[in-house]
Amino acid sequence: MPGKEISDICIYCKDSEAIASIRGRRLCRNCFIDYANSKASRGMTSYRPHKNTATYKLLLPLSLGISSSSLLHMLDRLQQRQVSASLGRAGYDVHVLIVDPSTIHPGHTDVQSNVDAVKASFPRHTFTTVPLHSIFQYDATIKDTLCDFGFVDEGFDSDKARLDAFRASLSTATARDDIDNLLLVRLIVAFAKTNSCDGIVWGDSDSRLAAKTLANVAKGRGASTTWQVCDGVSPWGIDFCFPLRELYKFELELYVQQLPELASITVPDLQSQENSSNRNLSIDGLMNQYVKTQGEKYPGVMANVVRIVNKLQPISSNKQDARCPLCSTPVERTALSGDNEASTISMCYACLRSRADILQDSSSN
Ligand SMILES: [Zn+2]
Ligand SMILES: [Zn+2]
Repeated sequence: MPGKEISDICIYCKDSEAIASIRGRRLCRNCFIDYANSKASRGMTSYRPHKNTATYKLLLPLSLGISSSSLLHMLDRLQQRQVSASLGRAGYDVHVLIVDPSTIHPGHTDVQSNVDAVKASFPRHTFTTVPLHSIFQYDATIKDTLCDFGFVDEGFDSDKARLDAFRASLSTATARDDIDNLLLVRLIVAFAKTNSCDGIVWGDSDSRLAAKTLANVAKGRGASTTWQVCDGVSPWGIDFCFPLRELYKFELELYVQQLPELASITVPDLQSQENSSNRNLSIDGLMNQYVKTQGEKYPGVMANVVRIVNKLQPISSNKQDARCPLCSTPVERTALSGDNEASTISMCYACLRSRADILQDSSSN
């Protein structure tokens, strides 16, 4: 900006020129980066190094988007800080899992150069790239689940063809996004278990968690909101942690802009680009859009959405409880009494709704 005021000085260090207003305070580049990292490191207190404990092994699902790329940068930095502190070692190791974005969304072309860039920038961590259809390889129960879902698994010569056919059988955008999200979570969980990880660190920002909360309620997945939004043990028995829960999406966008090494890693967010032009929006897409536009005007309201969920207790359940075979939410069998076909399957209300989408479609053919 030409003719910038000299008086625009960072309120923290009182030394450098401010680059942005963050929660009402003018901050310079370095103080902003420190601010964002301190928020993430507060979210990681469970994984501090301790004298007599082993190093945690954490799985970081990297979508190559802005948020998960920022998280990787912050966890790398935190790890180096821990190593240089008194105990001389880090509390955790990071295994990065990239589910190839081009196997999730056809708009992404080859991401090999992004993958190469991220490996070069963060050489201390382990990296694995898998396609979404490798879920059939890692998750031993997924085939049965899809059959429960009404999918006829016949005549496919590859896992890719099988998954393509299943996804194509979902006729509404809402069901497609909903099930895609679940398949992705299940692949990531199964991969984490196969590799003996102690927990999964998700890159969701406060804005994303608010959108997930609102979408879950709208889709009838209110009961599973706690594990999708709160730190703690997931229904699959592995810990979930959301270290970026106190950072807004636009703060992470600013973070990536300040770090040129992240520019060659991140891929554009095709879903949100599509959402702004597409009238046939899914509930997930609609809520992402809503939080993006309203969250910029009223970030405090979105932060409250997530804070309220954090105060909710997860549904208490024990291992004997019936669980939905797709999303693992505890289900009461009585809730299914109206549906004869489903009464033996114990699928939850929300998954039954998406399942109806497949059945309706195949009966109309
Ligand atoms: Zn400063
Ligand atoms: Zn379910």
